Amino acid sequence: MTFNEFNLKEDLQKAIDSAGFQEPSPIQEKAIPVVLSGKDIVGQAQTGTGKTAAFGLPILNMMKCDGSVEAVIIVPTRELAMQVSDEIFRFGKFLGINTATVYGGQSYSRQLKNISNASVLIATPGRFLDLLRDKKINIKPSYVVLDEADEMLDMGFLDDIKEIFTFMPDARQTVLFSATMPTAIKNLAKTILVEPEFITITKKEVTNSKITQTYYVVDEHERDDALIRLFDFKNPDKSIIFCRTKKEVDRLSTFLVSLGYMAKGLHGDMEQRQREEAIRAFKTSKLEILIATDVAARGLDVSDVTHVFNYHLPFDSESYVHRIGRTGRAGKEGMAVSIVTPHEFRMLKKIEKTTGSKLEAKQVPNISSVKE
Ligand code: ADP
Ligand code: MG
Repeated sequence: MTFNEFNLKEDLQKAIDSAGFQEPSPIQEKAIPVVLSGKDIVGQAQTGTGKTAAFGLPILNMMKCDGSVEAVIIVPTRELAMQVSDEIFRFGKFLGINTATVYGGQSYSRQLKNISNASVLIATPGRFLDLLRDKKINIKPSYVVLDEADEMLDMGFLDDIKEIFTFMPDARQTVLFSATMPTAIKNLAKTILVEPEFITITKKEVTNSKITQTYYVVDEHERDDALIRLFDFKNPDKSIIFCRTKKEVDRLSTFLVSLGYMAKGLHGDMEQRQREEAIRAFKTSKLEILIATDVAARGLDVSDVTHVFNYHLPFDSESYVHRIGRTGRAGKEGMAVSIVTPHEFRMLKKIEKTTGSKLEAKQVPNISSVKE
């Protein structure tokens, strides 16, 4: 199948061509016609499968470009807001479509100014709700998208989202996209969408990504040594190390930098400027290692991550799926490496069940020599 078959506006097709997209991904193939038909839709597909274009392209195609804010995309984090804004802008530029972002930590006046000449608004829930409650913005979007909905619920945004919808016009098309589909999401969909069509891309369809998953069993006190050993052994070009806490991110980045690694941390307590700087350095390969919490790194689109390291396994198996989705993108090969203590075996089993794959156990090279 080709994008041409959707019969999108010429200026949109031009943007798709110049982005180098040759064929739609499975979620795009299924979701684009549904969105174009005007129906509400709930779409589920793994991270990295092109969900932004799956809702972005058809919505851009339907917009009237009348100078008002016609579409709102609600995303969990400011990093994602910027990322989605860039992607939508890239698709809409030949149509003359402008985007604006709204998120916490940036001045109200600047954001309000940007909104005044945008037709697509990308917002995080908290700040968006502030603006709506204070009547600082009065918009009547025809299209409202909840992107990465599972993550927004994980972050405790359920009530904010519900309240946001009290400000949205009834005559609208609502779109919800998520990597996973827990019951809470289905319930939310029931309250804010009207007779939605559900589209799910099953694991079989998405495991075209070539991610090799391995794990290394160590004792708790061996985690740092194991990580260093694995790093030197695998010599990754570009990797993300996942930690469970911000404190662990800080400790590990100080430790790795002290050993001469090109590493930086990424978590929610850092200043926004520092976070943006770390992401930019990582994207442009000035930085080789990003050490991150789940929340900070989710949805981040860096195309050439060669390795994902789990310093600890995450608290739930869905997070594991999100984490390893950072590598093996766009058909490239990726490695997911977990450091595991016997205490984590139960989580390991859960992960194998969720991913439908068996992880391969391996020995850390020369770990014993480190201990001596
Ligand atoms: P998701 O939201 O599912 O995690 P994204 O929308 O962030 O995925 O897309 C992941 C990456 O794939 C982006 O860099 C995007 O530009 C790229 N991409 C999306 N669709 C296609 C396509 N049909 N062909 C090639 N690249 C694509
Ligand atoms: Mg996404």
